Amino acid sequence: MTGHRGRHFLQIPGPSPVPERVLRAMDMQVIDHRGPDFAKLGREIFEGCRTIFKTAAPVIVFPSSGTGAWEAAIVNTLSPGDKVLMVETGHFATLWRQMAARWGVEVDFIPGDWRHGVDPAAIEAKLAEDRAHGIKAVMVVHNETSTGVLSRVAEIRRAIDRANHPALLLVDTISSLGSADYRHDEWGVDVTVSCSQKGLMLPPGLGFNAISDKALAASRENRLPRSYWDWAEMLKPNANGFFPYTPATTLLYGLREAIVMLLEEGLDAVFERHQRLAAATRAAVRGWGLEVLCQEPSEYSPVLTAVLMPPGHDADRFRKIVLETYDMSLGAGLSKLAGKVFRIGHLGECNGLTLMAALTGVEMGLSVAGVPHRAGGISAAMAVLDGRDDSNATPLLKAAAG
Ligand SMILES: *Cc1c(COP(=O)(O)O)cnc(C)c1O
Repeated sequence: MTGHRGRHFLQIPGPSPVPERVLRAMDMQVIDHRGPDFAKLGREIFEGCRTIFKTAAPVIVFPSSGTGAWEAAIVNTLSPGDKVLMVETGHFATLWRQMAARWGVEVDFIPGDWRHGVDPAAIEAKLAEDRAHGIKAVMVVHNETSTGVLSRVAEIRRAIDRANHPALLLVDTISSLGSADYRHDEWGVDVTVSCSQKGLMLPPGLGFNAISDKALAASRENRLPRSYWDWAEMLKPNANGFFPYTPATTLLYGLREAIVMLLEEGLDAVFERHQRLAAATRAAVRGWGLEVLCQEPSEYSPVLTAVLMPPGHDADRFRKIVLETYDMSLGAGLSKLAGKVFRIGHLGECNGLTLMAALTGVEMGLSVAGVPHRAGGISAAMAVLDGRDDSNATPLLKAAAG
């Protein structure tokens, strides 16, 4: 399309828009990645990552997409034929499962309806049955980006502990880190997988593994082959701020700035802002008379909201109309949900007015596309943002408001 002025509205749940400050921070000459200036940058970003992941343990940074970081978590901890427990929360859990299967790992995939998160009781029951401790890992997606459902990782940890089972806990926080409360150490996670282009507000290109001592011990004995993804190869030079191969220096400049921004705002304030934007979005959806895909209020995603289209209306046609008419990108329904939902991202570089503009674009798009809906979504969202209505708020947001 030609003829659009002003900025494009990138309201997909990742990649999310990169803040001006991060863009400026990346506008730098590359430097010698074996020199003293790089070592300083390296040490700063490793320390900053520990703060964001809430861990005292090392965080490994790969030049990769999130998918690469998924693979790193698998190949460093598991062996061919190992059993793992996973849960079908949606598209991303399904893809991670496929990857594990390709590596010769045997996956027990607990079925799901793509409208709920991981049920900790189901994990507990499976582990309690596994008296021989054949299950080597529980692998879950924290924020299922395809559905807008956030699983309760702390409760999953407690379920594993109640079953008194030694399985590792591997968590995909690719779309939640930096947007939703997350605590690697406190929640006893063994490998936290993440990447740069969602809550961290960076361009794509960095993948992360935060690892526990138990995961590190597993990596010394497991038998899946790896080279590029090998943690041990990374950890040696990382200790002095360096990498074993040429790092993505420019992205690391951006990462350093993004971490400064998150800490300036304060992580709790960042999480609360996301909760508020999500609550306003749900209010708008209900105001339009449409339905939020997530069915469990304690699992509403602060990162994105997936919206069901009324029967007989194609979400992709609607998204195309919104893009062409208002220059806004909304997230597509993925695999099973193709054409049935659209997703509104409200993560990262997003504030109340950004969200209101996006929601206005959705409402106008519904009219242009001839999708049946009510007026009133916009004013309902405004009432949440200005504090008149807290009925859409999650318990966390209510607590924060006092
Ligand atoms: C985006 C996403 C991925 C895939 O990340 P890529 O960087 O595209 O490889 C995996 N899991 C979740 C939950 C995601 O949101």
